Amino acid sequence: SPVIELDHVSKRYPNGFVALEKVCLSLFPGEIHALLGENGAGKSTLMNILYGVHEPTEGGVLMNGRQVIHRRPADAIANGIGMVHQHFKLVAPFTVAENMALAARGDRRKTFRRHHDIRAFMQRYGMDLDPAAIVGDLPLALQQRVEILKALVNDTRVLLLDEPSTILTPDETRALYDTVRHICEKGTAVAVVTHNVDEVLANADRYTILRRGKTNGTGLTESCTPED
Ligand code: ADP
Ligand code: ADP
Repeated sequence: SPVIELDHVSKRYPNGFVALEKVCLSLFPGEIHALLGENGAGKSTLMNILYGVHEPTEGGVLMNGRQVIHRRPADAIANGIGMVHQHFKLVAPFTVAENMALAARGDRRKTFRRHHDIRAFMQRYGMDLDPAAIVGDLPLALQQRVEILKALVNDTRVLLLDEPSTILTPDETRALYDTVRHICEKGTAVAVVTHNVDEVLANADRYTILRRGKTNGTGLTESCTPED
């Protein structure tokens, strides 16, 4: 069953513009769900609703079948949602370990103090970064891995990736999805915004197409082995 669902979600911005209209979406544990659509289709609005940046003006968000209200990202993070923004929010002069510790909430922060434990955490997801590396010195593709690690530190069950491939070469994109697949295999649900249909067919399990704020199609790719 889905870990998170949007149930007929609409979003009207304060200026009156309706960016989403009665959108339904289910994210399943262990699946990569791609969100496709032209500029302005409502993809960022949808991700921002999942992450608690915006509240729906109508409809509901459910986690494990229960209605939740995320008024701000802290509420979403507390419920196990992590987000990787298109524009990184890293502290460049700090180390990988320090960036992860800063992202961790409460007692989890202790886990990200010892480099040994950080390495073990990374290896769970098939990543192998140097915890002592200065983030600003890393190539962009690795800075993105740090963003992903930051999004995973709070017992994350839903990982949101906003256009992760736009800054990557094709090889780097393949490597990114290897990592994302590892993350899924630990039971995390992943939603990824992309413009690239080939990327979806090669890497995603399920997709939803948005057009002018409405769902305009949904389906399974050949790599999908549906849970239910
Ligand atoms: P996408 O991510 O698919 O490009 P967005 O969700 O960013 O789409 O935007 C959907 C539509 O909502 C666009 O027409 C955009 O201009 C509009 N929009 C986004 N944010 C706001 C806002 N804060 N106020 C008014 N309109 C907005
Ligand atoms: P993205 O690249 O993620 O789609 P944009 O660059 O379109 O985001 O928008 C950046 C910010 O500006 C977002 O917070 C979005 O809500 C806001 N925004 C986008 N379109 C509009 C709009 N038409 N009116 C007001 N705010 C907008």
